[in-house]
Parts: sequence; structure tokens; C-alpha cells
Amino acid sequence: MKLATFRHQGALKIGVVEGADVADVTAQPGAPAGLRELLARGADGLAWMRQAMQESPRLPLAQVQLCAPIPAPQKFLGLGGNYASHLAEAAKAGIVRGAGQVWFNKQVSCISGPYDPVHKPFVSKQFDYEGELGVIIGRRCRHVRAEDADAVIAGYVVVNDMSVRDWQLRAPTHTLGKSFDTHGPFGPWLVTRDEIADPHALSIRTWVNGELRQDANTAEMINRIGEMVAELTTAFTLEPGDVLATGSPAGCGGLMEPPRYLQAGDVVRVEIEAIGAIENRVIPEPRKDNP
Ligand code: MG
Repeated sequence: MKLATFRHQGALKIGVVEGADVADVTAQPGAPAGLRELLARGADGLAWMRQAMQESPRLPLAQVQLCAPIPAPQKFLGLGGNYASHLAEAAKAGIVRGAGQVWFNKQVSCISGPYDPVHKPFVSKQFDYEGELGVIIGRRCRHVRAEDADAVIAGYVVVNDMSVRDWQLRAPTHTLGKSFDTHGPFGPWLVTRDEIADPHALSIRTWVNGELRQDANTAEMINRIGEMVAELTTAFTLEPGDVLATGSPAGCGGLMEPPRYLQAGDVVRVEIEAIGAIENRVIPEPRKDNP
């Protein structure tokens, strides 16, 4: 199933995408508050969804606004340097990754929808994109072995791990440079795990204004998804709806020669085979004064 969170006539809804329509299950008896709550019900939740979609009204996708499928997860984690091609271009720029998995936090407040505008910060000229496969956790879990990780994965999304390079590199935690408001678009929906035969065999491509910038395959990942789940759950509990961004291949604008950072008006599209595409237009960061 393609599980979606969307806005229609001002209301936030959930449903299942089929072709050019979405089955709106929001008003069905027993409907959860959102997809995170649905995932927390485990296999029962997915069975409920399969039944509910049969009895639900259809809306054309063109008439709804797709949102991030999990608008408010408890965690949004990113793995750095998980493609050899990206490590090689980073090394040329003098950036050397330590051994092992290097994880950072994207603050969940940076999440935006798959077609929402994203902000070019006014404090930086180094706004960049990173097309990535996103993993959505489906079950509360701790101490998961890599070979058992499939059982805790709900499905997959397309992520743009947008990054403000100068702010990212000023601190080893990367937290600020990875977490500007709007810099975590993902979607366009959550494709459940049963529909993806092998998440390590998907083409992943990123375009800026129609120009192909990243062209890779998830087979190139250095650390596999099972190893990621094992590493993270060695330290802490993962919850239903948690989002893992699994790293980006070569072709980020900041590592081109000369660098080509994003400007207002640019449109970034990230597409992953068997999942879909997200597309975000860059706009100047609006200035908000506190009351
Ligand atoms: Mg990344």
C-alpha cells in the first residue's frame, strides 16, 4: 500500500493512494489519528487499512495537498557518508569521514511536505540537496539484530536531506546545518515494505531544474538498512514512525567544481524507483519576528 497523509478542504486526512486517486479512510469507524498511530497498531493496523480503503470515498490526487506521510515523528535521523561515490567526492574537498556509522539528528521541526516550498536561508549561500532513501520504522524496538530488522520496518519514502553546508560543518554534530525549518521534505507517501522486494536495488536520482545531478542505486550503500537498525537500537529505542535517512550518493551541489548551491527559484526533484518522487521549489526564507 501507498499510505498518504494529505490536506483536503482544510482538514488533515489519511488514506491509501491507488493510481491517480486516494482512498480517504479518515471517517471510517476506528480510524487512527494519523499514520504514526496506525503503524503503532502493527499488523492489525495494516489489516484495518486494507479493509477501510475498500469502503472509503476516492479523491483525485490532483485535488489534495500531499503532506509528509509522518508529519510529526519522534525521531528523524540521518546517516552520513553511506555511498562510496559521495565519500570520494567529499575526500577531494578535504572532508574525511570517521570509521563506522556516523548518525546525526534532523530536528523534526524541519519536516515539510513532498511538494512544499523549502527555504534558502538568509544567513547562508551554501544551501544544498541530498536525495536519499528513507526508512520508516513500524514497531517499537530495541536490540534488533541486522538479520531481523525487516520485521521492524513499516516501509520506505523519498527524502531530501537538505543541508546548509557552512552551518553543518561548523560542528561535528551537524545538528543546526541539517535542521533549518523546511529542510526535511519527504514522501510523497509511505510505500509499505511488502511492496519493495529489495530496498537495496532501487535507482535513485536527483534533478535541479531538470538537470540530472545524482544518479545512483541503493545497491551502492556501504551500510545496509539492517546494520543501521542494529546500530541505532544498540543505543536507543526506535518507535513507530521514526524516520531514517540512509545517506546520499555523489552529486551534491556543494561538492561540484565549482560548487553549485541552490538559489531561490530552483526546483529540486528526488525520485526513487518503486516509491515515487518529491519536488520542492526553493524560496527565500521568510523573516518572522517574534511577537
Ligand atoms: Mg544525508
